[in-house]
Amino acid sequence: MLEIKNLKKTFGKNEVLKDITENVEKGQVICVIGPSGSGKSTFLRCLNVLEQPTSGKIIFDGQDLAHISEKELNVLREKMGMVFQGFNLFPNMSVLENIKLAPMKVKKVSAEEAEKRGKELLDRVGLLDKADQYPDSLSGGQKQRVAIARALAMDPEVILFDEPTSALDPEMVGEVLKVMQDLADSGMTMVVVTHEMGFAREVADEVWFMADGYIQEIGKPEEIFEHPKSERAKDFLAKVL
Ligand code: ATP
Ligand code: MG
Repeated sequence: MLEIKNLKKTFGKNEVLKDITENVEKGQVICVIGPSGSGKSTFLRCLNVLEQPTSGKIIFDGQDLAHISEKELNVLREKMGMVFQGFNLFPNMSVLENIKLAPMKVKKVSAEEAEKRGKELLDRVGLLDKADQYPDSLSGGQKQRVAIARALAMDPEVILFDEPTSALDPEMVGEVLKVMQDLADSGMTMVVVTHEMGFAREVADEVWFMADGYIQEIGKPEEIFEHPKSERAKDFLAKVL
C-alpha cells in the first residue's frame, strides 16, 4: 500500500535520511523505534509529504507522491491520518465539532452524517459523554483519544502516529495505547513512531529500528527485542528495555 524507495532527506548538510527502501502492506502495524534525533519524525513527515523528500519515491496506492499535483496530493493525504504528540485540536470548537470539521469541509459530508459518525467514533474511543466539551477541559489522554477519533473520521487507509503518548502523564498512556491496540485489531494499517516498547512488542507486526539515517534492522518484535543483530540496536535496546 505504501512503498518507500531510496528515500533521502537532508537539511543543509545534515543527512537525516540516507537511503530508505521499505514497504508497508495493508493491515500491517509497523512500529518505528530508534534514538532521539535519528530521523523518525522526519521519516513519518516524508511519508505524507509534509516534508518534501530530497530524493527517492513515496508511492501510495500506486501513485508517486513526488510527481502529482498539489490537488491530487491533497486527495491522497486525506487517506493518511496523522496523530501527533501534541494533539493539535482546535481549542475554540467542541470535541464533536473538532471531529465533524474535516469530513464536512473536505469530504462534503452532511452535518447530520458527520454528527452521527462523530458520535460513533467518540463512543469507540470511550468519550461520547465529552462530545460537547471543549478540548481545554479534557485530560491529555482524553485529548489524544479525540485526536485519534478525528483522524478516523476521514476514513483513512493508514494512520501515522508520531509518539502519540510521549507528552502524556504516565497514568494516561495506557488508555491511549488501548485505543491504538483496538484500532490495530480492527485491521487498520498503522505506522507508529514510539518509545513504548511494550506496545511495540505486543502490537507490531514489524519493528523498524532506525539509526544513523538508515533503517538498520527490521523484524518481528521478538526478533528485534530478543535477538537484535547490530551493535547499534543492541546498544539502544540495552538503554530502553
Ligand atoms: P526524537 O526521538 O527526539 O523525536 P527523531 O528521531 O524524530 O527524534 P527528527 O525530529 O526526525 O528525529 O530529527 C532528525 C534530525 O533532523 C535532527 O538532527 C533534526 O535537528 C533535524 N531536523 C528535523 N527537522 C528539521 C527541519 N525542519 N530543519 C532542519 N533540521 C531538521
Ligand atoms: Mg520525533
